This record gives sequence, structure tokens and C-alpha cells, in this order.
Amino acid sequence: MLETACSQCNHVWSVPPSKKGGSVNCPSCGVLTELDGASDTGWFYGLTFGGFAVLGLPFGVMAVIGILNGSMSMAVCSGSIFALAVLVLLFVLFGS
Ligand SMILES: [Zn+2]
Repeated sequence: MLETACSQCNHVWSVPPSKKGGSVNCPSCGVLTELDGASDTGWFYGLTFGGFAVLGLPFGVMAVIGILNGSMSMAVCSGSIFALAVLVLLFVLFGS
């Protein structure tokens, strides 16, 4: 557990480590307090883009190969999955 102090009333309480780098409401006065410490955004973006690179990009490449080879079913199928992966990526990055 992390210890944090309220900037408003100086109340000190413990918060779960998962809140590190985020913000919590003071249990005493309710003021939103920012927590120190690096957040896990590095991991978040690493996993998001890593997952996209592993799961999404191969379908984008397959779609391009399908188009180049004149195989429209392969292009459309892979392109759809790639578009879905891009949508999920955008949603994860900007949807929250
Ligand atoms: Zn407080």
C-alpha cells in the first residue's frame, strides 16, 4: 500500500499501489488528490502498440499482399480484421 496525504486537509491514508500515478478522492474531505509516482502508461502504450503490432499488422500486410496478388477475398477478409484492430487501437488510446 502507498501512503498519500490530502492537499486540502492533510489527511493521510493508504491507497492500493495500482492507483500510483493516478488520482483518488480523499476519504476525509472528498477532494481529488493526485498521487505521486510514475504511472504505468509506459507499460500501457507498450502493450497496446505491441499487441497491435502482433495481432493487427500481419493482417494489414496480408491485405496488401492480397491486393497486389489480385486476391480480393484475402484482401477484404484481412483488411476487415486490420480495420477492426485499428478501431480497437484507437478506442483503447482515445476512448477512455
Ligand atoms: Zn482531504
